[in-house]
Amino acid sequence: MKKDLNFAWLISSINVPEKTEKWIREAFEKNKKIFGRAPSKRFKVVICNSEKEWKDESKYYYLPFGSGTVLRDATFVVKEQKFLKRTDKDYKNILDHEMNHVFFALFYGTTKPLWILEGLAEYMGGYSKSTKEILEGIKQRKINHNILEYRYLQRNFSNKEVIRLNYEIWKKFIEFITDNNPKLIVDFMNSFTKHPTKRNYDKLFLEFFGQNQENKFKTFILWLNNANSSHK
Ligand SMILES: [Zn+2]
Repeated sequence: MKKDLNFAWLISSINVPEKTEKWIREAFEKNKKIFGRAPSKRFKVVICNSEKEWKDESKYYYLPFGSGTVLRDATFVVKEQKFLKRTDKDYKNILDHEMNHVFFALFYGTTKPLWILEGLAEYMGGYSKSTKEILEGIKQRKINHNILEYRYLQRNFSNKEVIRLNYEIWKKFIEFITDNNPKLIVDFMNSFTKHPTKRNYDKLFLEFFGQNQENKFKTFILWLNNANSSHK
């Protein structure tokens, strides 16, 4: 089937459940709100019903344990809910997360940093580790401000646990530096992508968030520790 959703083409080898279509529309609206605008290009949403379809459609981003991805041309590829065996809530999270990547790709192209790309997507839809778990992970793996490096790990993550921890730290860091207003990250990206150099990035980071990355990360750790001890 191929269905026109007005903002995207919904494509699948079999009929897409009504609720999935509804959640895709919701994911689009949620992200439109955060970004303050909708992409002008009509992208594709491809629902995969088998591992073979997933492998063919996800192309250079294929991972056997993957659930969804967004290609460089902003094509949204995701496994079908039944095939993934996810609860409604988990599946909606995946759709919200990947839809964020679609907006990001269409507005900012391949511009990174990865921590903003994945942190913002995770903010829209992701797992939630507790502050305690995040602090323990940071300690155990001796994580410092390098996690905010422009192309940190470059997607060559060693295992699922490390990926999840990184994503959760990035998400929490965005909560922290924006005081839970992700629009600030969008403003930052709108400014940065006009002139995407490392120098401009550092300059804007200081302007937007009041400290350089290294110091801001230290303040973040203090903030996490505070949040953790006040929960006891
Ligand atoms: Zn992602």
